[in-house]
Amino acid sequence: MEQGMPHQRRWNRGRPFTAVVIAAGAGALLALRPWGAIGAAAGGVLSGLAAMLAWGSWRSHRTVARRLDDLEVTHRFAAVCEIADTTDELVVATIDTCLEVFGADVAEVVMARGVGSTATARRSGEGSPTRRPATPRLLAALGGAERVDIPIPLVEAPADVVAHYGEAGVRDGMLVILRGGGGSDTTIVVGLAEGRTVSTADLGQLGELAGRARIAFERVRLMERLQREISQKDHQVLHDGLTGLPNRLQFSIVTEDAIRTARGNSETVAVLLIDLDLFKEINETLGHQRGDVVLREMASRLTEAARPGEHVARLGGDEFGVVIRGVDGFTGAAAEARRFADAVQRPLITEGLTLQVTASIGIALAPEHGTEGTALLRRAEVAMYEAKRTVAAIEVYDTQHDRYSTRRLALAAELRAAIDSGGLGVHYQPKADLADGRVTGFEALARWTHARHGSIPPDEFIGLAERTGLIRPLTELVLRTALADGVRLGADRDGLSIAVNIAPSSLNDSAFPGMLAEIIGESGIDPSAVILEVTESTMMADSAKARQVLESLDELGVELSIDDFGTGYSSLSYLSSLPVDEVKIDRSFVMGMSSDARSAAIVRSTIALVHALDMRVVAEGVEDRATWDQLRYAGCDLVQGYYLARPMPFTDLSAWLTQARLTTEELDTAEDRDT
Ligand code: C2E
Ligand code: CA
Ligand code: CA
Repeated sequence: MEQGMPHQRRWNRGRPFTAVVIAAGAGALLALRPWGAIGAAAGGVLSGLAAMLAWGSWRSHRTVARRLDDLEVTHRFAAVCEIADTTDELVVATIDTCLEVFGADVAEVVMARGVGSTATARRSGEGSPTRRPATPRLLAALGGAERVDIPIPLVEAPADVVAHYGEAGVRDGMLVILRGGGGSDTTIVVGLAEGRTVSTADLGQLGELAGRARIAFERVRLMERLQREISQKDHQVLHDGLTGLPNRLQFSIVTEDAIRTARGNSETVAVLLIDLDLFKEINETLGHQRGDVVLREMASRLTEAARPGEHVARLGGDEFGVVIRGVDGFTGAAAEARRFADAVQRPLITEGLTLQVTASIGIALAPEHGTEGTALLRRAEVAMYEAKRTVAAIEVYDTQHDRYSTRRLALAAELRAAIDSGGLGVHYQPKADLADGRVTGFEALARWTHARHGSIPPDEFIGLAERTGLIRPLTELVLRTALADGVRLGADRDGLSIAVNIAPSSLNDSAFPGMLAEIIGESGIDPSAVILEVTESTMMADSAKARQVLESLDELGVELSIDDFGTGYSSLSYLSSLPVDEVKIDRSFVMGMSSDARSAAIVRSTIALVHALDMRVVAEGVEDRATWDQLRYAGCDLVQGYYLARPMPFTDLSAWLTQARLTTEELDTAEDRDT
């Protein structure tokens, strides 16, 4: 028995491989085969006898006919190896060829492909091969075989391989394990029937077949992998990973297509832009994981709501698109949109929480609003923003809306320029201690004075910055300016704090603490004089990353303040588990205090709760003396609001501070006089 040592290679355990197992099974079947195939193996002594008799005559017959027959069979196999373009074809051809050439009873091909590992076998006489998953034990045993690339008798295979085929009734045979490239190997194993032993000729012939099969399996495997990659890439390019829906690119292709077809039949095409309302808040409050659950759920609801021929896509973020052909004008399109709006609105239960999500839908029609896909989508977007603005749920495009939208787009570009050129300023609004009226620090508020539009409110440009990725440079600019101004003012020396508003995205930005540390270092300010104001909903975004960022910020020694408290759904006890120093009661409650008993009650109980949790409490939006006194009576620590001062430019700050000190001193002396 030749061992083929020169070809021997160590098997790389665990690599995927293909094993071709050709086993001759029950003797009777094998023996009778040359006189015509018989479908089933006969058992018992008689058939055993018949087998022995027949065996001798088959051998002699075969020696004569063999070369010619085999030549034909191997030629056929060679041809299949040349042209096959699927692994399946090759597996079947290998099995058939082995059954014929070796007069085998059973031939099996084992393909090790990780999770998709299979064993395909056919008994002679059976019509088609059967495929089942390959057992881990067999795969491990074949994977652990030492001799590769040359055929060996089955009995010399690893013990588990021998045992495996033994259990299947195969006593002798042969096998060859072929090594392939790219992490895939092909193994061919050939076994022989009870009473038959492997001859050197059998091994030689299997070697020949295996040589061809090996190249063919390799070629086909590569082809299939390439095809898979291409189709995956095609899919990835055109689909959204999270929801599996077609993406923006695919959507635009479908839209163009619909417009073109509709033009021929003079149909109307509607493009719907569906944007979830308050999705940002859902993400921030409940965490991104649940945000993803919501997006996936909405994707499947929209898909279900779509009728045949209507295409749903995810355009990015919480935006979905639908193309509908053959709508009946404005009213028809709006009715179709209703269907999708309703699907979104059904209550959604996730991890015991019931959410009701709503959407704003903008509609643009072809040919009325344009005959080009991108233009149509942009107009649907304009209509969608109008729907958001008017809380109308569904809006059809109207040229009136476009003016506002054009301004919004232009603003984004101008905001970028303003940040780069220092056109963005910072104003400061003081905070005072309620007990003695002393100024304790300032809140930095970004200001943008636009050349044409004048002063643009932060509520507008901060949101714009967040949507357009400008929030990071904006935050950096405000921090740099505010901390430098703080030092100029002698903030640390006078025990004054400088508070800066931090956008939600910064808490998910692991680079943020590093950036802050650098700015603090450059300014030379004492970190304990710096307060970061973070909104309540941001704090509740229960992501591991946000918590990590918060902890790094705490380690820097800066203070953390919860801004706009009362507007989110947070629990104070959860917030107190975070490194928080201060809570700012939202101005909407504070401003209502003097006229609305409920607001006053909320403010009072919040003050008590915050104190119980050992944090400082600030009331913002204090506009009059009455509120000031009420807060003082309720035990609030600090106040901020127009009553004390409006936000002012740095240049006014020193003068204001001097005057405020005087006032406090006057107040103190007045109080001294009183007592
Ligand atoms: P905020 O953090 O709640 O800031 C307080 C806002 O209340 C400021 O509005 C301030 O001018 C206003 N305010 C102060 N006292 C009173 C009062 O007595 N009555 C009334 N009615 N309002 C008062 P502003 O400057 O328009 O800022 C609005 C929001 O924009 C801020 O709310 C903050 O969330 C955001 N913002 C401002 N600057 C920045 C910034 O640099 N970065 C970030 N991320 N957000 C900023
Ligand atoms: Ca603030
Ligand atoms: Ca606030």
